Amino acid sequence: MGDRLHEIPVTRLKGVGAALASKLTRIGIQNLQDLLFHLPLRYQDRTKIIRIGDIRLGVESMIQGTISSAEIADGRRRSLLCRVQDGAGIISLRFYRFSSEQRNTMKVGVQVRCFGEPRQGASGLEMYHPEWQTISEKHAPSDENTLTPIYPSTEGLTQQRLRTLCSQALGFMNHPDALQEWLPASLLSADHQWSLTEAIRYLHNPPTDANVRVMLEGRHPAQQRLAFEELLAHHLSLQKIRLRIRRQHGHPMPARQKLMTQFLELLPFTLTDAQQRVAREISDDLSQSVPMLRLLQGDVGSGKTVVAALAALQAVENDFQAALMAPTEILAEQHYNNFTQWFKPLGITVAWLTGKTKGKKREQQLELISSGEAAVIIGTHALFQDDVIFNRLGLVIIDEQHRFGVHQRLALKEKGQGATPHQLIMTATPIPRTLAMSVYSDLDCSVIDELPLGRTPVNTIVISDDRRDQIIERVRNACLEGRQAYWVCTLIEKSEVLQCQAAEVTAEQLQEWLPEISIGLIHGRMKSVDKVAVIQAFKEGHLHLLVATTVIEVGVDVPNASLMIIENPERLGLAQLHQLRGRVGRGTVASHCVLMYHGPLSLKGRERLQVMRDSTDGFIIAEKDLELRGPGEVLGTRQTGMIDFRIADLGRDEALLSTVKDAASQLMSEEPDSIEPIIRRWLPQGDHYAEA
Ligand code: ADP
Ligand code: MG
Repeated sequence: MGDRLHEIPVTRLKGVGAALASKLTRIGIQNLQDLLFHLPLRYQDRTKIIRIGDIRLGVESMIQGTISSAEIADGRRRSLLCRVQDGAGIISLRFYRFSSEQRNTMKVGVQVRCFGEPRQGASGLEMYHPEWQTISEKHAPSDENTLTPIYPSTEGLTQQRLRTLCSQALGFMNHPDALQEWLPASLLSADHQWSLTEAIRYLHNPPTDANVRVMLEGRHPAQQRLAFEELLAHHLSLQKIRLRIRRQHGHPMPARQKLMTQFLELLPFTLTDAQQRVAREISDDLSQSVPMLRLLQGDVGSGKTVVAALAALQAVENDFQAALMAPTEILAEQHYNNFTQWFKPLGITVAWLTGKTKGKKREQQLELISSGEAAVIIGTHALFQDDVIFNRLGLVIIDEQHRFGVHQRLALKEKGQGATPHQLIMTATPIPRTLAMSVYSDLDCSVIDELPLGRTPVNTIVISDDRRDQIIERVRNACLEGRQAYWVCTLIEKSEVLQCQAAEVTAEQLQEWLPEISIGLIHGRMKSVDKVAVIQAFKEGHLHLLVATTVIEVGVDVPNASLMIIENPERLGLAQLHQLRGRVGRGTVASHCVLMYHGPLSLKGRERLQVMRDSTDGFIIAEKDLELRGPGEVLGTRQTGMIDFRIADLGRDEALLSTVKDAASQLMSEEPDSIEPIIRRWLPQGDHYAEA
């Protein structure tokens, strides 16, 4: 049969028709392999009958005894209440829903076996809605000899059903190579790894002495074996993209230094050592005929934009176009302003294109881009659209990568005629090493690990919103002293409309309190021209206080702003808070950030705000965020697709990563034929990174 279980649809199993198949699809199960990889969340022990006297509250148990009374109890809700005795104790079974048939069956003197969670109820020990069956003397002490798996499920799909399906699928696995082992024996024995089939069998039906606690944590060797292979598959697939791109042809763009030197001379500051180092790394890459694939990491305010500008100039010096893509209109606009200001004196035309560029203006910009008159093009993801034709695209710079999907990252390469453009990906959300190793392992990495001189670290204060009045006074004083402030509203509502309304209300209230202060408002539903106008007014000092939703999170640069109030910071991720806070502390005066939480805080919530108070280092904060909230939150939701592991967990399985890397190299050199099947097994949508 070969490695074929993924080709056998669930409908081949007994009892699976279209209706059941569609329920299974809802939880991601379409074929037998999906079913085998659908692992239990937890386990129950139904192998032992517990004496009622030995029962522990909250511990699911199987009991057996004789019904000593059965009655309808009229409490707040009518229920069927049966008392069961086994000689060692007594317990009540309570059913709020029951059929008349059940009433007739559960009669005094009948023997029952039940499984449920004992709790303290109105009549003493109770089980609510236990599973039950009547038994006779013939019954074995227990029908089960392994732990009972509890699977993730969906409405209308019972555990019983899932269990039968899984055990059928396990039956298919009896064929010796139904689920082929792709890891070479040398690797399995070196790491004392379980075989794949062994691991799967064990996890679906663990023996009664299995270490359930370790299994709940996902740290059992059987689980780790699967996590290992899954991480390996992801890693191999990223390496494959990397190899594919590295095999493509890129335009060599050697540093000619002319424009670059001129630019540096015009800058009002000198580059930090870290900026110079990464600029050299990028410059070296650009001069190669292999396309660059580089991730530029640097904390908020570390000055990534200038480094990007230098890279763009190197392309322009070689008669190529450079495109810079930002995640939001505001940020694109800001880059556009910076780049035109910097590049105009150098005689370089900068084009501008976002989704909101329409009509004549759009035609004009498209013309600038396709004729090659514009050497630098700034925009949002609108740069990907089909009607955007570049003249000689040599370099693509992507700002704030984590907000884009990988798909967008790779789609731009189609825009280079004949050759693959070099790619520079910038992120201000420092990515913890573990994540970088797994999610970005196809990229080379440069880090700006130093802030420009003269920055004073932001002083962060954590305070309850009981003291809102005092904080408002503080804002008043700061503004009257000529400083500027942000007031950031974060909201729990998913609806953007409601968020924006709430920011509007806050702005009105603050204006009532602070009549002498001029207050501006910015939120995501405003027209883009209006947003830009508000930011401009704030930048020029016409507004003292800017009330904002989290739209100002990235990129807004107003050095005179030195105070930020963040309402309900407990709702945001640390990385996001760090980004927000990065809007202040850009000038030379001491800056403050007030995290005004709404109590009471959970233990974790408190811990997270403390991290913000104690550290201004984005890398430390990101590590903590990963620890406290997991990778999805750190990378931003859009990216979760690519770290949506079935079994692996980057936080938990960090220790596996270096072995995974070694194993990947070993496979690539010794067993190249097993690479594709491993990728296909774990990333069945096809090699979705690479096709993007
Ligand atoms: P980020 O890395 O967050 O994108 P920016 O590139 O926006 O940071 O830079 C933040 C601010 O610091 C900008 O106003 C920029 O002009 C300024 N800047 C960048 N590099 C230096 C430097 N070496 N010395 C002083 N200021 C700098
Ligand atoms: Mg930036």
